Amino acid sequence: MYSRDGITVRTGLVGAVRYLKASWAVRYGLYHEIRTPAYLFQFSPEGVIRFIQGRPGTWPNHGDWFKRTAGGDWIYYSSGGYNGAFSAIGEHYIPVFPYSSNGVIGEKAYPQGTLNTALHALEELTAWAGEAASGAPPEVAELLSRVSRKNSRGDLATLADRFHSLTHGPVTVLPPDCRHVDYDILPLRLAKGCLYHCRFCGVKSRHGFSVETGEHVAEGANALAGYFKGDLADMGGVFLGEHDALAAGADAVIRAAQVCEPLFSTERQVADAPGLFLFGSPDALVKVTDAQWQALDRLPFDVRINTGIESLDEATLNYLGRPTPLSLVSEAVARADEVNRRFSGVSVSLNMVTGSGLPESHHTSLARFVASRRTLDAPLYLSPLKNHADRRTTLKELTALKRMGQGSVFLYLLQRL
Ligand code: SF4
Repeated sequence: MYSRDGITVRTGLVGAVRYLKASWAVRYGLYHEIRTPAYLFQFSPEGVIRFIQGRPGTWPNHGDWFKRTAGGDWIYYSSGGYNGAFSAIGEHYIPVFPYSSNGVIGEKAYPQGTLNTALHALEELTAWAGEAASGAPPEVAELLSRVSRKNSRGDLATLADRFHSLTHGPVTVLPPDCRHVDYDILPLRLAKGCLYHCRFCGVKSRHGFSVETGEHVAEGANALAGYFKGDLADMGGVFLGEHDALAAGADAVIRAAQVCEPLFSTERQVADAPGLFLFGSPDALVKVTDAQWQALDRLPFDVRINTGIESLDEATLNYLGRPTPLSLVSEAVARADEVNRRFSGVSVSLNMVTGSGLPESHHTSLARFVASRRTLDAPLYLSPLKNHADRRTTLKELTALKRMGQGSVFLYLLQRL
């Protein structure tokens, strides 16, 4: 520990070694900390700001914190004031995004003023770190000079731009299961576009579906390793993009996982296997053979596939412009449940839409479905349709559904990177 000018620096801290569901600010991997009278700043191993938290007496709720994503968004983690957060989203905090999402929970206004003040304090700290580095012990001096070089607003904006140049622009939506590693993932594109181009979807790309070559995938993984360097120690997994990586074929998914394996073999502190997150359409899911499921299960990753089934009602599928026959949707559900019961290293979660304006038959079939679920069946995420889901009705529906069956039902909050 090193102190100067009322500021304390602690380097080389190790966070929790297992991912937790907690309402307080748990840190994972390696990090460094600088504490000023007003703020707690936490930096990645490479010295890039990751978390800012107000000290007691400086923020309305000092239990809350800001987290900077690799894409440069500052997400406000609200840990208090929401009863039932865990029941609604499976986490004990509510993420408040600086962009519009489909969230019907966490409708608190984004605290832009609080962020601006905190970022101003970070700028001041950056200037201080440059001066303080010269008189500090070597390990502290190394961190302070990194902090001063990498955390001005301009430097952080450049870092985010470089990140997005590697990821082909912002990732518009991450699978809901990324919450299990607090969204600390490496996004690697395995396939572009999707199979269905549903009318209702706000995140689809204009491209047709195509698969990246093995060389592209390997280059992408190398580029991410070169970008994150020591910060790989803090990564919880990989997201294989974009909207239907499983449609590239399970063998391609397995090869991509093998390419990514070395990224998690060096400084990683977390004992849990890294996650391998991807979307898989119903068509792609039912095509995976038994041998491929077994191969996915053997990967040194916790493989988590998320399948949008959207509705179990034919009229609603038509209304959504979703070209998946009900027979395929039912087959996908059966396959998801079977995978979850048989394997421990690979699992499938399901998504369905909700919102006012959908045919009443959707809500009826959804309730019937949820009532039939058992504990080990695939968890279900409900995705409120943007601009069509009013908060009270959706939360009331969720509460009623949660009482009906034994399976997990949560809201899906669309998060970008
Ligand atoms: S819901 Fe999925 S499959 Fe349909 S258009 Fe959107 S990304 Fe594509």
